Amino acid sequence: MVSKSALLEEHIRNLQTCRLCPLMRSTPVSGGPVVSRVMLVGQAPGDKEPVLQRPFAWTAGKAMFKWFESQAGVSEEEFRKTVYMAAVCRCFPGKNANGGDRVPDKDEIERCGRWLQKEIITLSPELIIAVGKLAIARFLGELPPLIDLVGKIFPVEKFGRKFDLVPLPHPSGASPWPRIEPGKTLTMQGLALIRDHPAWQHRT
Ligand code: SF4
Repeated sequence: MVSKSALLEEHIRNLQTCRLCPLMRSTPVSGGPVVSRVMLVGQAPGDKEPVLQRPFAWTAGKAMFKWFESQAGVSEEEFRKTVYMAAVCRCFPGKNANGGDRVPDKDEIERCGRWLQKEIITLSPELIIAVGKLAIARFLGELPPLIDLVGKIFPVEKFGRKFDLVPLPHPSGASPWPRIEPGKTLTMQGLALIRDHPAWQHRT
């Protein structure tokens, strides 16, 4: 039987050849073939991640890894080694007219979903951490406000797999939500749910 590790390695080789979205402004970014019970799903890389060749490589990542270090006792290095890092879209979408990152469109999200589907089927994760509204919506559909999502855990069945979903806000400096109340407390509650989840204790 082919190991999960070999399946993931092949999957990532295939992902890196994907050029399906003509508006995307980079090649795909991957966190590597980490066999884990925990998966993190972000939104889409920024302009620095394709250069540095890893997800959450810049300011949003610094903020997010600080959360995990302070609340879940894991360094960035350890996190990258023990959590499979995926995203709603794997390529940098480019900038919008205001200079912010363009939000991927519905077709791009659908198209890129094939990679996420394969990863969920291959890994059968027990816990998925969805970071940001776009990622949360991938699992929960139409969304209530973040205040009703963050700090909670949701049982989800998708692609024939059952897992717990913990939503987190996007750590980008563009949104003050995680830094002001009640977002600050809810974010800490979400991180505590991750820390105490049985899959987190035995990720690999
Ligand atoms: S965003 Fe996803 S589907 Fe689109 S080109 Fe990149 S990897 Fe392929």
